[in-house]
Parts: sequence; C-alpha cells; structure tokens
Amino acid sequence: MTKSRFPAISLFCACMLIAATFQLAAQKNVDAAIAEVLPGTLKKHREFVSLPNIASDKEGILKNYEWVKKELEQQKFSVKMLESSTLPLMLAERTVSKKAKTILFYLHIDGQPVNAANWDQEDPFTPVLKQLDSQGNWSAIDWKNLDGAIDPEWRIFGRAAADDKAPIMMMLTAVELLDKAKTKLGVNIKIILDPQEEAGSEAFLSTLDQYKADYAADYMIIMDGPAHPTNEPTLTFGCRGNATYSITTYGPKLPQHSGHYGNYVPNPIFTLSHLLASMKDQNGKVLVDGYYDGIEMTPAVKALLSQVPDDNDDIRKGLVIHEAEKVGNNYQEALQYPSLNVRHIDTSWKGPGLKTIIPEQVTAYIDVRLVAETDGGEQLEKIKKHIEKQGFLVLDRAPTDDERLSNQKIVTFKTNGFVNAFRTDMEAPIGQKLRAAITKEFGTPPVSIRTMGGTVPIIPAINTLGIPAIIVPMVNMDNNQHNPNENIRIGNISQGIKMCMTILTMELN
Ligand SMILES: [Zn+2]
Repeated sequence: MTKSRFPAISLFCACMLIAATFQLAAQKNVDAAIAEVLPGTLKKHREFVSLPNIASDKEGILKNYEWVKKELEQQKFSVKMLESSTLPLMLAERTVSKKAKTILFYLHIDGQPVNAANWDQEDPFTPVLKQLDSQGNWSAIDWKNLDGAIDPEWRIFGRAAADDKAPIMMMLTAVELLDKAKTKLGVNIKIILDPQEEAGSEAFLSTLDQYKADYAADYMIIMDGPAHPTNEPTLTFGCRGNATYSITTYGPKLPQHSGHYGNYVPNPIFTLSHLLASMKDQNGKVLVDGYYDGIEMTPAVKALLSQVPDDNDDIRKGLVIHEAEKVGNNYQEALQYPSLNVRHIDTSWKGPGLKTIIPEQVTAYIDVRLVAETDGGEQLEKIKKHIEKQGFLVLDRAPTDDERLSNQKIVTFKTNGFVNAFRTDMEAPIGQKLRAAITKEFGTPPVSIRTMGGTVPIIPAINTLGIPAIIVPMVNMDNNQHNPNENIRIGNISQGIKMCMTILTMELN
C-alpha cells in the first residue's frame, strides 16, 4: 500500500507543477501582450487627458465624449447618448450572448476643477511625463522615452490622468487585447460614462427611472478611486453613506459683555459642549441609544477584515495620533460602524482681535457616516431623541422669545438629508468569482475591502437600481486625486489593463 501511494502522489505533484507552470506562462503571455501595446495606450491617454473635462464646461465634455466614442466604436461597441435635463450620458454596449451575464461598468468622464497656478506644470490639461529624480522630486522627461523601455514607476501628470481617464484607457486596451488574441468575452458589457461625477452626478441620478432598461444589468462594477496603499489588486464591496445635520444652542438674545454678565448669563458654547460630550465616551464610542444596532462583528467578519494588509501602527504614525479611538479593534473594523463627527463649530463672533462677549448662539455642524445596517433617517431620529433625553426642547427653527423665556435648554436641529450606505455581500457569487479569477491571474488574492470609509455620489443609483455592485479601484493611492499635480503611475495602467482583461473573461454563469 505504502509503495503504491508514492507514485500517485508524485504524479499529483507533477500535475500541479505543470498546471502552475502553464499558469505562469499564461501570466507572462498576458504581461508581454500588455507591454507590447502599452506605448500606444499611453499615447492615446496623453491625447485624452489633453481634452479639458470640467463638468461645468459642456463643450469640453462633448469633445471628450466624441473622443471616447470613436475609440469605443473601433472596439465594436454600439454607442448611444442618453439625454438628461443637464448633460447627456454616454452608454456603450457590447453583447456576447443573451445567456451571458451583463456587467454595467460605471466610469466618469469629468474631472475636478483646476487652478493652474497651483500646479508644477504650465497647464493641467497638457499632460507631462515625469520621473523621480535623485533629489526625490518629480521632473519632466521627454515623451519620446515611451519609444524605449518604459519604467513602471514613471508617472503622467495632468487633470483626470488618474481620476477617471486612466480606468477608461485600461478598459479600452483590455478589449483591444482580447480581440487581438481572439479571446471570447465572458460577459456582456455596458459602459456608462457619467459627465458630472465630480459635481454630484445629477445627470445620472435624475435618469435612473427614465433609462432603467438601459442601465439594467446583473452586476455593476464601479471603476473609480485608488487601490489599497500596497497597490495590490483591490476589490471594494461597499462604502459608507453620509447624513449631515446641525445643532444650535442659545444664550442671551443678543451678545452680552462678559464683564457685565459673566457668571450671570449662561454661555451657549458650554451648553453645546455638555450636549456633545454626552454623545460620545472617552474612547470614541457613541452613547446614543441604539446607534450601533444591527451591526454584528462575527468571527467570520473579523477574519475577512483582518485579511486587509493594513499596518495599523503605520496608519497611526502617519496621522500623528497617540492612540486610535476604540470603536473597532483596528482601522478596517472602525469603518464597519457609523461615525459621529463634529466637523465645524460656529459662533456669532469671528475675526481677529478680542471681543469679550458671551455669544448669543453657537452651532455645531455634524456628519454621520452610515453603514449598511444603519438608515440615515433612523440614525438622525435616534440622535434627536438623545438630545430630548438630555432635557432639551428640540425645534426645527429658531426659538421665539417666549420659548427662550420658558425653557432653559433649547436646541435647533436641522438636517440636510442623507445618502445611505451600500454593501455587497463579499461571499455573494460575483465576489467569489471575481476573487477567484483575480487570484488565478495575479497569483495572489486581491485585497478585499468590506466597507470603504468615504461616500461616493452614485450610491443612490446602486440602491435604486438594485444591482449588486463592487468598486474596482485601480489607480495609485498617491495620485493627488482632486488636487493639483494629479498623476497616474504607469505600472498601475498595466496592472489595470490586466484587471479589466480578467473581469471581461470571467465566467459568471
Ligand atoms: Zn473619480
């Protein structure tokens, strides 16, 4: 028995080795194919980034559409414009078969506004190729360098070079390469280009019902935002929502002299401070009743979160804080809970110099980052009840004199609405298949983020369309997103092309 088992094991090992070798060879082929087309992709990217794309400049956006339309049509997409009350959206489709699943890829064509004076180049819309010099500064190099060996660490600087024109180029190149290799796509593709993502996505959000059939898909993949700081392939399964409100507390009807009335007239800043202090303990945990209801940090969830290769000590040192709050045990766990953040406090007197007064009112502006378990409306209601429980009369307007005279503690509570969070189950089939496909292609599993901290404007679309969505962020984290000197690392373009190829050839049925 023992003897006969060894050959079987060796055979098994040999098969594994052959499979691994084939896998490696396939990976090398893909990498070589990408390297071959990369100079062409980068030249097109340069052309594309040279087109100004601020959402407020309709002519500019239309020129960008024209450019992409030509490229998409060359890749056999059918392209149509979806009119809205503001700017039109562009929808491109390529159908493989009726049986295949359809993925709606969401990308945006607009970029953040620019102030050219703050850039280290003449014009944010004249892209510049740069490399890190020996002093650690980014210095311009000739575009002709793209004709030789390309260093993946080189970067292209320009507005929208990363956000979000790089992913558009990655998609176009991935389709081009798959067609060239006569590889059949595994999914039907729909690409929606949002002309106003940086300005609130009104065109897209206001047409969800009107173009429901056009937007219909089995899954949605959002290609926007930066990958994990390790720059490993990243999948993000959700992001937090946001609810904002303000609370105002009141002192005397008019500001009063702090000498004449100190010790006599109550100061609304202290009233507000006591109220705010009642909302959170010293460890950062919110004390509002039911604030964390429904959130379960099971061992399975903890295990998923611990796979993210964060260095919590590095994060803390980077932020220069002595200790993190203790809402979760680490950064990823902290993001699974709703936050309560005072972002700004405003009182009547502002400006240089002394003014010794007791102010008449003070307002705290607060935001609550929401998670999948917490509805914005309910969360705001819980906070309002908490304020009432502290003995305050809660109004949605300024108090009258009578109300001031007959109530010691008054709060004006104003909400500015909310956007709920979204989260797709990491163990849902789309998540599992994506992870498996990326692991196979890249040799290591992707970084899987359960919930990212920020809020993207298109969450209402995900929730309204009811399509399971995953964010696939592909650009470098240090791309100066929304800031002067926005840039894309060339290595991220190559990796992103491979990510797109992996997604497009994934078998979803
Ligand atoms: Zn973006």
